[in-house]
Amino acid sequence: SIRVRFAPSPTGNLHVGGARTALFNYLFARSKGGKFVLRIEDTDLERSTRESEDALLRDLSWLGLDWDEGPGVGGNYGPYRQSERNALYKQYADKLLQTGHVYRCFCSNLELEKMKEIAKLKQLPPVYTGKWASATDAQVQEELAKRTPYTYRFRVPKEGSLKIEDLIRGEVSWNFDTLGDFVIMRSNGQPVYNFCVTVDDATMAISHVIRAEEHLPNTLRQALIYEALGFPMPKFAHVSLILAPDRSKLSKRHGATSVGQFKEMGFLPQAIVNYLALLGWGDGTENEFYTIDQLVDKFTIERVNKSGAIFDSAKLRWMNGQHLRSLPLEKLTKIVGERWKSTGVLTESGGSFVEEAVQLLKDGIDLVTDADKALATMLSYPLHATLASPECKPVLEDKLSEVAASLIAAYDGGDLCSALEEGHTGLQKWVKSFGKSLKRKGKSLFMPLRVLLTGKLHGPDMGAGLLLVYKAGNCGVLAPQSG
Ligand code: GLU
Repeated sequence: SIRVRFAPSPTGNLHVGGARTALFNYLFARSKGGKFVLRIEDTDLERSTRESEDALLRDLSWLGLDWDEGPGVGGNYGPYRQSERNALYKQYADKLLQTGHVYRCFCSNLELEKMKEIAKLKQLPPVYTGKWASATDAQVQEELAKRTPYTYRFRVPKEGSLKIEDLIRGEVSWNFDTLGDFVIMRSNGQPVYNFCVTVDDATMAISHVIRAEEHLPNTLRQALIYEALGFPMPKFAHVSLILAPDRSKLSKRHGATSVGQFKEMGFLPQAIVNYLALLGWGDGTENEFYTIDQLVDKFTIERVNKSGAIFDSAKLRWMNGQHLRSLPLEKLTKIVGERWKSTGVLTESGGSFVEEAVQLLKDGIDLVTDADKALATMLSYPLHATLASPECKPVLEDKLSEVAASLIAAYDGGDLCSALEEGHTGLQKWVKSFGKSLKRKGKSLFMPLRVLLTGKLHGPDMGAGLLLVYKAGNCGVLAPQSG
């Protein structure tokens, strides 16, 4: 059966690279009716924290990448934290010792340093050549009796090679000659990373290991351990790096890179998921818009590209706009309303005001947070504030004065307000008679009117905007603004 895993180390935030690895695993599992396992790789006790683990789980859940087994869910292959699996690692390390795949190495650090220096002088690869690979039982017993500290070293074949068929990269092969016998358990009993991963993947019955390209060098060691333990080898798929626009490795200096940051900036999880899927994958058509269910439907590992993918935050923003506008109006109203309530713009989070505002503003925003500025712009419509708008004045200089004078009169005399009071038809009627009195219609009426009333040359439907602003001022939904 198909079983995949996402195995983050809880040493920091979930960044876009990790999220994409998780997503590809999730899509693979869901598209094949398999299981998606979450395993926490917290062997590095110094750098691992519970807060970081909690944040990882939160971000994964927020993205909608729910796991079938793992922390918080349980499962038959637990525990799902490496720090809780030490007894298992010890058991398998001892098994390898018994079968001779591993031997005890009593070399001190000093001896190891010397070996390295000698190798360097002789221009040989820095591989382990110590005597303990071929020590007699008597020699071993003597050191054990003296309580000399020892590591467990894996016996690597002196020659030969190993090859795997990577599902993304094709054939990958390694020669053994430069590897050298490597440590799988330190002298303090702490198992090393590659050993833990192998024991975990094997005992959790993982069928496909889908992970970042940077783990490819680990695969050789892990494959050797698999063979030695007599476990069937999983299939491997190493996903290429995510690059910055300058083709360097994406990092913090390129701006926001963690899922949490994007969440705070007002991105929708479905847009992030969609965008991450396109970093290295496509269904072969021009289509770029997918819901997570559509991705499950279309995803195949064979279509994952082996060259690096460039992270383009402007494209992600655009993608967010696509998803935002595809939400049902009630849903978007709820999201925006909650935001405006929490930021103190509104006294209530729902209501027809928010729905009308969202309807009016949604085409001009990509992020939920953009709605704040769009609303603020609309709320600053009142005539007197816009008369001196530097953006518009030069463009309509000649037309402004005549229309402005009449408009100010209509505003001061209360005509405009009573028209707004009557709603859409009232406003339409007023605009018509206002135009008649000035002998203007069409563009020569609407352009100066828009500029005078909104302070902008372009924007959402002017009449609807005005009515909404008027309503906001009268129904008390707007929280009192300070300053
Ligand atoms: N814990 C590793 C990481 O966070 C993942 C190891 C793996 O997928 O094999 O990069």
